[in-house]
Amino acid sequence: MQYPEPIAQLIDSYMKLPGIGAKTAARLAFYTVSMDGDDVTNFAKALIAAKRDLHYCSICGNLTEEDPCLICKDKSRDQSTILVVEESKDIISMEKMKEYHGLYHVLHGVLSPIEGTGPEDINISSLLTRLQKNDEVKEVIVATNASTEGEATAMYLSRLIKPAGIKVTRLAHGLSVGADIDYADEMTLYKAVEGRTEI
Ligand SMILES: [Zn+2]
Repeated sequence: MQYPEPIAQLIDSYMKLPGIGAKTAARLAFYTVSMDGDDVTNFAKALIAAKRDLHYCSICGNLTEEDPCLICKDKSRDQSTILVVEESKDIISMEKMKEYHGLYHVLHGVLSPIEGTGPEDINISSLLTRLQKNDEVKEVIVATNASTEGEATAMYLSRLIKPAGIKVTRLAHGLSVGADIDYADEMTLYKAVEGRTEI
């Protein structure tokens, strides 16, 4: 027996999300149909609005409603430090900590030879352009996750940036290997930033 076409389409859509296989997609699709009509409408509207209203900041790559983003626009922030993260959501974690007042750069991924992700596939060239254009930057803090890929990306960035006379540092290993900075609590993050070391 086949799924009715609208359910099949919904399952296909859910399967496009990361980490969702056929079984989970079917469960979500049937659940969606059972939901209250208003909730489904709001869900659909939220999807469309997020896609329509959010863009990547042309300077740092952060997800933003306005370009440049509020952080890049804020001249009261410390313009001498750029903290490099894997994803936009990592900025939210860092900002919650309230102890970092510099700028950011979002890579949208990490280097991964296994998955075929090279330097041209992530947001590295715009970071280099940024550093060339702005001699105020004195330090780049690489806050990629402590995974093998995160470490390799940090080393790659260090080799590219250090020759320009800019200090490159890495968060202290207060975070366990493979830990997502998204999950780190604020105190751990604070200690990791405070104890950063030059690479
Ligand atoms: Zn920005």
